[in-house]
Amino acid sequence: MTDLSKLPNDDGIPVLNCPSCKRLVRWEPAATHRPFCSERCRLLDLGAWASERYAIPAQTPPDDFDENH
Ligand SMILES: [Zn+2]
Repeated sequence: MTDLSKLPNDDGIPVLNCPSCKRLVRWEPAATHRPFCSERCRLLDLGAWASERYAIPAQTPPDDFDENH
């Protein structure tokens, strides 16, 4: 027998919107990426501010190699 008296939405777990994609995220211990819905959204959000701060890591500014010139 399956206990159907407890519905998934009736477990007292709050729900919020993912800051990145606005999807609904259940605020529960299993949601390790909260407040984001997934690791992808979390990395996207981190990348958003990191890109402003560190620009593109793969490119080295030419000015750094100007000592030998
Ligand atoms: Zn998301």
